Amino acid sequence: MKLCDAYTGFMTRTFDPEMLYVECSQCGLPVIWKNGMTTKLLKMAEIDPASLDERCVIMSEGCPSCRPGETAFTTQVIRLNREKDGAKPMPATAN
Ligand SMILES: [Zn+2]
Repeated sequence: MKLCDAYTGFMTRTFDPEMLYVECSQCGLPVIWKNGMTTKLLKMAEIDPASLDERCVIMSEGCPSCRPGETAFTTQVIRLNREKDGAKPMPATAN
């Protein structure tokens, strides 16, 4: 069994996934979870932390504040890519 403990600190210029901002998509509160959680989630989702940067945020569908009693929440990594405007074709509104 292989543990990826060498993952952090191995690549010197890697963005630290623990620095990612986590927000609850239900109540909008920032979610603070224990250290190492983000790295764990990314591994589970097979997301390479090296592909992330500070423009990425993690949205959690619920948090302990608005879903007391629940311990597991669905999370999603979202990249805020404001530089690429117009990537999506707008639906034409022809009258
Ligand atoms: Zn919440």
